[in-house]
Order: sequence, then structure tokens, then C-alpha cells
Amino acid sequence: MKLWNPQAECLSRDDLRKLQLEKLRTLLHRVDAQSPYYHQKFIDAGVKPGDLKSLDHFQSFPFFDKDEERKSQEQSKQELGHPFGMHISCDRKKVNRISSSSGTTGSPTFSGFTKLDREIAAENCSRGMVRMGMEPGDVVLHASVLSMWVAGVPSVDSMMAFGACVVPVGALSGVERIAQIASETRPKMIRTTVSFARHLAKTMKERSGIDPKALGIEKVVVTGEPGGSIPEIYSEIESGFGGATCYDSMGATGGHSPIGISCEAHAGIHVYAEDNLYYEIIDPKTMQPLPIEDGVEGEIIFTGLDRECGPLLRWRDKDIVKISTSPCSCGRPGVRMTFKGRVDDMLLVKGVNVFPNAVRDVVNSFSNETTGNIRIVLPAAGPVAESPVSVIVEHISGLSVDKLDVLGRALEAAIHHHLRFRSRILFESEGLFELKTGTTGKSKLVEVVPKFTP
Ligand SMILES: [Zn+2]
Repeated sequence: MKLWNPQAECLSRDDLRKLQLEKLRTLLHRVDAQSPYYHQKFIDAGVKPGDLKSLDHFQSFPFFDKDEERKSQEQSKQELGHPFGMHISCDRKKVNRISSSSGTTGSPTFSGFTKLDREIAAENCSRGMVRMGMEPGDVVLHASVLSMWVAGVPSVDSMMAFGACVVPVGALSGVERIAQIASETRPKMIRTTVSFARHLAKTMKERSGIDPKALGIEKVVVTGEPGGSIPEIYSEIESGFGGATCYDSMGATGGHSPIGISCEAHAGIHVYAEDNLYYEIIDPKTMQPLPIEDGVEGEIIFTGLDRECGPLLRWRDKDIVKISTSPCSCGRPGVRMTFKGRVDDMLLVKGVNVFPNAVRDVVNSFSNETTGNIRIVLPAAGPVAESPVSVIVEHISGLSVDKLDVLGRALEAAIHHHLRFRSRILFESEGLFELKTGTTGKSKLVEVVPKFTP
């Protein structure tokens, strides 16, 4: 088993904790000294950087979230003439690259990266590449949008720093062009979103005459959506590319993305960046910390330990993850994480927590008759949803009314069995769902339709 940086990736828990505490102390002092915003934020919260005695004590420091980031950036645009936010803690002249969020939930927010920030992101990317069996010089087809999104140009930047031979074809040049470029450059790996990987596997042969199974692609790395860790989805991608292995890559806002990668065992995402990323798990309702132990499930909080430009201390990512600390059968080190759902997407149906992506997972287990596209339709915005919940499911073409009737009842029973809430399944024919491969390729799972009547 090869690792890029065995010393950093195999640190013992004790050594890791010591290093994280030391780096947190340095970070707190730096942001306190260089950012009047953080200085005031600490005063308001009644905490002092010099007080940090242990990692547990870090829990008394305030969180940072998207709303605060957006306000801080609005203010810096007005007062300082730059979009990095009042929480910037480096000389503006040191900002070497800007990336932005997708802006799907409001105006985009910006992240600045210094040369050091970019180097650490490249270091993390290299750890993931080596874990996937890649070497400098191997050809990677980057078929994800070439945008400011962190999995766009920043990802290309990091893979080139690793030494990969990157073919930045992008996602917008169309299936035919991507197929042609792939057949001529013969990539060992293709990097894209879950939706686009599935789209390529399904449509490439028909559209271009080039069979994706015959391209010799060994690895498909997906990011941006949870599908890369869902058996029905990664299996479909793997067989669509002729037996390639599908890997799920994970990023962390405020860290040096990427921060983890899944393995051939598909047993969660191995986090390989704990020497530059500190994470906590909290209960999203009480906001109280949960112990990092096997099986724990909660909202993840990130702190990038080495970020020079605009560090986000105790960033509320709003993702719910499950932690696995038991050794993985692949033998690679690192705590593993499995994405469970978004805090903001969580619905409450008769007292039961429901994650829309979990509903999609159940529907995906009927992959012989459904396409995997679903939409939960609510008459009013959540989180409280009336029972039964309407779920529109896209079915494959050619199913009779009788078959759909049986399928609908089977889906309702499966959802009730696995997720403990009642649903009402409605069908839509294959092809009527819009394939969303925009800037992030993320598909929307919940739609609010006032006065919706099934
Ligand atoms: Zn593993």
C-alpha cells in the first residue's frame, strides 16, 4: 500500500492531537492579531486565544457559518474594496487564487488562497492520487466544469502540482467531444461529478460511437454529490466504464480541499488531512460536541489549521456524517466518514428525521425499474412535512400501468421499512427529469410547490 506522505498520514492519534493543538494555538493568535474582526468576535464570545489549554476547550470558541461569511464579505466589499471578508488574516497582496461557491443558495461567497494555501491543497490532492494508485505522469481527464468552483480549476491546479498529465476538457464541451478527446489521450483516470459520470456512461456510445467501456479508464473520481458512496450508483458508474473503480472525493470548506478519498472497499471516505484539518462532530439540535468514536453520527465542524487567507474557525458545514474508526479492509489509515445528509434538507415527518438523499438511496435499490432521479414535493417549506410525503420517481420506459402500480406499492413499503415514514409515490417517464449538470452538477431533491395536489 503506497502513501504519498506516510509520516503525516500515519501519525498516531496522540501525536495528531498534539500537532492539532499546537497549530490551533498558532492560528488563534494569528487571526486575533491580524483580523480586527476575529479580535472583536473573540471578545464578544468571552474567549481569549491565550486561554486555549486543550482541544476540548476549543469548543468554547464561536462557530462560523454561511450567513456570517456572506455578511463579512458584504462588509469588506463596501469598506475595504475586496470580497474576502472582514475575517481575512493575511496581506491582500498574498492572495494568489480566488474560488467561489456555487451560489445556488444565494449570492456566491469567495475564498482566497495564498501560495501556501494552494501548496497544501496540492499536498492533500497528491495524498488522494497516490491512494488511488496514480503516479506523476499518468493522464487524467478532467471532465468537470472549468469554473471557480473548488472542484473546477482549483482541482486542475492541484493535480498539475502533483505531476499528473491533466487533460482539462471540462464538462461543457459535450459528450461527443469528451469521448473523442478521451479516445485520443487515453486517460487512466476521469474526474467529474456523479451526475455527469452517469450521463457519460449512459449516452457516450450512442452519441459518439465510442464505447466508454473500451477506453481503458481504470479510475473514475467523483465529487460534489453523495452518489460516489452509494452502492447502486458507484456500481453503475464502474460497469459503465468497463470495470473501472469509482472513488468518492471529499472536500471541506475552510480546509485545504480535497481532504479525503474512498477506497476499493467502498467503506466510507478515508480522511487523510488531519494534520492540516481539525474536525469536530456535534449534535445539530443541541450544538453540543459528540465523541469521535465508531458509529457516531452528527454535523461536522471544520477548522483548516494552516489556512493563511480568511481562515474559517469552527465552520458549520451543515453536513451530517457517520464516523468509522475501525480498521478498513483496504489497510489504509485514516478515520472514515460517510455522508448521511444535509442539516438544512432534513425533514421532520411525524417526529422522524428524513434525509432526502436517503429516500433517493432506497429508490436506487430498485434500479431495474427506476432511473434514480427523484423529487420530493412539499406543499410548504420544511422542515416539518405532512404525512404521507409525495415522492416523484422517474421510471424506465416501457413499464405497464399494472407494473407501475406494483412498483409504487413496493417503493412505499421499502421507504416505510428503511426510513420509517409514509410516502406517496408518483411516477414520471424516463427523460422528463431535467439532468442538472450546471456549475456544480448537483441535482435538487426537494421542491416546494404550493397547492400541490398529487
Ligand atoms: Zn479503505
